[in-house]
Amino acid sequence: MDFRYLGNSGLKISEITYGNWLTHGSQVENDAATACVRAALDNGISTFDTADVYANTKAEVVLGEALKGERRESLEIFTKVYWPTGPSGKNDVGLSRKHIMESIDGSLTRLQTGYVDLYQAHRYDTETPLEETMRAFADVVRAGKALYIGVSEWTAEQIRAGHALSQDLGFQLISSQPQYSMLWRVIEDEVVPTSRELGISQIVWSPIAQGVLSGKYQPGETPPAGSRATDDKGGADMISRFMKDDVLSRVQDLRPVADELDLTMAQLAIAWVLQNDNVAAALVGASRPEQVVENVKASGVRIPDELMKRIDEALGEIVERDPAKTAASAPETRPV
Ligand code: NDP
Repeated sequence: MDFRYLGNSGLKISEITYGNWLTHGSQVENDAATACVRAALDNGISTFDTADVYANTKAEVVLGEALKGERRESLEIFTKVYWPTGPSGKNDVGLSRKHIMESIDGSLTRLQTGYVDLYQAHRYDTETPLEETMRAFADVVRAGKALYIGVSEWTAEQIRAGHALSQDLGFQLISSQPQYSMLWRVIEDEVVPTSRELGISQIVWSPIAQGVLSGKYQPGETPPAGSRATDDKGGADMISRFMKDDVLSRVQDLRPVADELDLTMAQLAIAWVLQNDNVAAALVGASRPEQVVENVKASGVRIPDELMKRIDEALGEIVERDPAKTAASAPETRPV
């Protein structure tokens, strides 16, 4: 496993990071979740990403249990705040001082740790003054409950404004967590150049497009049993944007490229996001430990320029590049 610095900081993270959205506390049983975390640890992954909203707080509990007994100093644990949790009361949401201060304590209890390495704003909150949010994050860091701060799906402009305040307040905003894959490249025009300038890295989610880029979904065929596309607890809805025949057939055209590199298609997809030097980590999910074992082998792979071009030719116009999609992925007002 190779490690990369997270933004302009001294923190090193595993370039393949394990995330537990839709799986822990939901799609998979606790035994399978623990087996995936075990496989991650055994194969060099030291960085784990979760959020209070995953499975309405249960994912943090499952991850905390699975990591129990591990040496804390050898792990990097990331979580997030913004989306509604618990009874979804009027203040159980957003980035107000009240919600941030209450949420960090809840997350630490569930994760069974005294601090998280990275605390992330899961979306931009249009209803809280940015100064209030950043002051609250500064206090979370000063209290030793988080070491660094990050954001997720913020636009380039929002990142710039948040970063300026973090500098004034004396804490480090070092990461952005956007969706990024061969199919979804909306960060390339604005978020990445701004982040490079400010010393911020991307930790990218759904690098395998939720499993689609593994090539296991065939156009016109029923999805394999047990896959995310069959998960009626939320997975099937989330993956539906990619489950279209034109996308699935273009994805099949990537197989010869993967073969040429002696990689599986999932490994090719992970290696592809890691070619971008502003990406600190590919944030990969798994429903089974075998997937983790397969996926970690993408670490350290270099895809020659000629094959990068062939990937673009194979995918053609199905690639989404519109930078406006970043803003569109966040609610205009709080969800409750
Ligand atoms: P991926 O693109 O890595 O998809 C993971 C899923 O793909 C697995 O659960 C599995 O699903 C399938 N899969 C993985 N490896 C293989 C393989 N080798 N062969 C076949 N299928 C495979 O990422 P996720 O969508 O899970 O997101 C990863 C993480 O990103 C999350 O856990 C979370 O931490 C973060 N995230 C952050 C968001 C944000 O807003 N900040 C939003 C979404 C995610 P199955 O077996 O069920 O088909």
